[in-house]
Amino acid sequence: MKVTRSDILVRGLTQRCPNCGGRTLFRAGSWLQMNDLCPACGFNLAGAGDEGFYLRSTSLNFGVTVTCYLFPLVLLAYFTSMRVQTAEVLAVAGTLIIPVLIYRPSRSWGLMNYYIFFPEALPANRAGDQPEKKQ
Ligand SMILES: [Zn+2]
Repeated sequence: MKVTRSDILVRGLTQRCPNCGGRTLFRAGSWLQMNDLCPACGFNLAGAGDEGFYLRSTSLNFGVTVTCYLFPLVLLAYFTSMRVQTAEVLAVAGTLIIPVLIYRPSRSWGLMNYYIFFPEALPANRAGDQPEKKQ
């Protein structure tokens, strides 16, 4: 297998194309728009119209926000002298801001999460394909 699971993990965590490793997930000059196809290797980043790719990254975004921000905030409010009103304001602000801040990583994590389980689905790992490897 040309692209290993560890390659996919590193590429997912660094917001790179899972197939070629290029920094091509997002359109140049845009913070939120993802390329449908990788400009470097032509890999279908949108998942061939599969809505699961978007839902997967949205679920990861939600899960990370709850697990890494809201849950610790609840623990802080419960076990420290933090006022409940302060915790409420931080919770509302965090639930509005954090999903936007981790939008790009969560889109990349969504791709990583799929291809780490199905690396053979990457064109670079199919027999006969020899795409160039960029990093
Ligand atoms: Zn690519």
